[in-house]
Amino acid sequence: MYKLIIFGPPGVGKGTQAAQIASKLGLFHLSTGEYLRKAVEEKTELGIKAKEIIDRGELVPDEIMIGIVKDALEKNITPEGFILDGFPRTIKQAEELEKIFEEIGHKDITILSLNADAEEIFRRLLKRGRSDDSEETIKNRLEVYEKTTAPVLSFYDGKHNIININGLGGIEEIYKRIILSL
Ligand code: ADP
Repeated sequence: MYKLIIFGPPGVGKGTQAAQIASKLGLFHLSTGEYLRKAVEEKTELGIKAKEIIDRGELVPDEIMIGIVKDALEKNITPEGFILDGFPRTIKQAEELEKIFEEIGHKDITILSLNADAEEIFRRLLKRGRSDDSEETIKNRLEVYEKTTAPVLSFYDGKHNIININGLGGIEEIYKRIILSL
């Protein structure tokens, strides 16, 4: 059973790689970003609230995100396992996720830490052109990442297995690196 968290800065390719890994290995893929974008599209109560936050490059409140992830993980216990993408993004989320794992009985989580340099990331995000990919929003997201999300990796240090993956190169090349490291 694969129990994976894909981790890294915005624009590093987490979503692309997570989708491939999930489809090839038959895992449940939970992308909190995708989940929120769907809610925005459907104009649900969550979507209306989340849209402004996302477009500013800020984070949706922890309590909301934790509720979503808890619910999804409880409902989707596939024998092949899961990959989390975009969560946890704060220490609080990471702490609560530990509790959820404990409740469900998940041990031995693997963190796939995808890395790329800041310039490459900035270039990729500008090219992507999502509504939250304006220059100003990107700058804020990268700041939020450094300040609030990057410390999550230290939180996992010594707790779970962390695998560092070079996120530079072609999609297939990076995918192979990941698969070979699992
Ligand atoms: P990227 O990794 O490229 O920044 P995502 O699709 O993961 O994009 O997330 C898009 C936006 O959705 C984030 O900038 C944030 O506003 C919101 N979001 C996604 N996941 C979380 C989370 N775990 N906690 C808070 N906000 C989140």
